[in-house]
Amino acid sequence: MTAVAQRPEPPIAVPPTASGRPVAYSRRVPGWWRDLVGVLTWGSMLVVVALWVGGGNLQDLSGWGTGLTAAGRLTGLVASDLLLIQVLLMARIPVVERVYGQDELARRHRLVGFWSFNLMWAHIVVVTLGYALQARTNLLAEAWDLVVDYPGILLAVAGALLLVVVTVTSIRKARRRLRYESWHLLHLYAYLGVGLALPHQLWAGQEFMSSTLSAVYWWTLWAAAAGAVLVWRLILPLYRTVTHRLRVVDVVRENDEVVSIVMTGRRLDRLPVAAGQFFVWRFLDGPGWTRGHPYSLSAAPTQDTLRITVKDLGDASRGLSHVRPGNRVAIEGPYGRLHDGVRVRRKVLLLAGGIGVTPLRGLLESLPREVGDVTLVYRASHEHDLVLRSEIEALAHARGARVFYAIGPRVADRHSWLPQAAADLSDVDALRQLVPGVTDHDVYLCGADGWMDAAERAVLAAGVPRDAIHLERFTW
Ligand SMILES: Cc1cc2nc3c(=O)[nH]c(=O)nc-3n(C[C@H](O)[C@H](O)[C@H](O)COP(=O)(O)OP(=O)(O)OC[C@H]3O[C@@H](n4cnc5c(N)ncnc54)[C@H](O)[C@@H]3O)c2cc1C
Repeated sequence: MTAVAQRPEPPIAVPPTASGRPVAYSRRVPGWWRDLVGVLTWGSMLVVVALWVGGGNLQDLSGWGTGLTAAGRLTGLVASDLLLIQVLLMARIPVVERVYGQDELARRHRLVGFWSFNLMWAHIVVVTLGYALQARTNLLAEAWDLVVDYPGILLAVAGALLLVVVTVTSIRKARRRLRYESWHLLHLYAYLGVGLALPHQLWAGQEFMSSTLSAVYWWTLWAAAAGAVLVWRLILPLYRTVTHRLRVVDVVRENDEVVSIVMTGRRLDRLPVAAGQFFVWRFLDGPGWTRGHPYSLSAAPTQDTLRITVKDLGDASRGLSHVRPGNRVAIEGPYGRLHDGVRVRRKVLLLAGGIGVTPLRGLLESLPREVGDVTLVYRASHEHDLVLRSEIEALAHARGARVFYAIGPRVADRHSWLPQAAADLSDVDALRQLVPGVTDHDVYLCGADGWMDAAERAVLAAGVPRDAIHLERFTW
């Protein structure tokens, strides 16, 4: 396969761009954590249904008016529960984040969000219909009555409208038309929407008023969601930023489009970060500091340095080439599942596409010595796009790892992880040729979305079980 070249023994010394002793922070993720998170999520919905049944709602199902009201109440309660689960999913709770990773969390958040949104509308329509039937009035008159006479309903309507804006702008077609920053800003209105929905549940919700157990459950859930956001999205990042006082010490141009930024700070050995993870970074001494952007560590973290390597893909990433030594940096994180703690086998295959090589370069450096048979396959369109190449080769040489490059344009007539020059091979055959016994490997994957999908399909088809495949997407 001409497009895939191996570079076995480069005459280069290991070039640690970072200095100091590497930090070996264990981020092992016990398998049962995932089960626990799942059980708690489904369990919360069971509790909601049980509380609804305990509240005597089943008896109401005997009549049309009362039945619709009771059914509408249930959809509203489940919608609220899902709304709060959505908030919890994105609250950066360490256990949850470590189990799923942020790309998977964002996907689940989206799925739960659409269910919650649909149930919220079912709640609004069905409850109004139920009340109208009981009051023997028409739907519009009843809706008006509810808004003006019932406490908290007007606020809830405002909240629902905000959630409509958030949901509509999150539909893929609409989202693609918006700048990420505009979409994200709009998305933050969801918190306001959730907050505005609370009073009607407190003041008009039968569940809150009639049962202490129910009130305790809902208060606990609301407090947990608000507390989690406060602690993990605000207080902890602020604490880490203030404690570690990161500053830029070096900016290295890797090629026309890519820069590496090395930062130093205080007591970095106490930062619970592992190679392969990422932070959301804010470079404080320049324009755009209010907007955080996620970048992976491109070298293993040490007790006094962190490094990222950034490709110019838009305004913010381009702006990083203007960052200067001395610039202060705020951090949120560390996050991400591309680290040694998720590994379940001894052998490792690192599959990198383009700038997705950054976390895998860090991993290559930090995998424990007992990890045998490390292979890195690095896919790029052109040879000059192979960033951090000399470092990778030196590290591979020092560790006895194998490196293959898959260079060239995409295969024209199918979605493939291979370059056009290797199109005569199937995706799976190419993988098996490069990495004999690939099924015995843990596979770490990072790159552009379409490429990752093709590579993941090939890895699965080659027989690697899902729990041995670890991926991080650069788009959420
Ligand atoms: C977990 C993770 C790790 C990443 N690691 C690296 C890395 O090591 N090196 C690197 O070059 N790039 C990395 N990226 C991609 C990088 O974050 C985006 O390229 C960058 O944020 C683009 O911002 P922009 O303003 O330059 O471009 P824009 O034109 O504004 O955005 C381009 C695309 O980047 C994504 N994006 C923009 N801002 C954000 C944000 N705040 N959060 C999430 N996605 C955003 C959106 O999908 C958007 O469509 C990573 C992304 C993620 C999610």
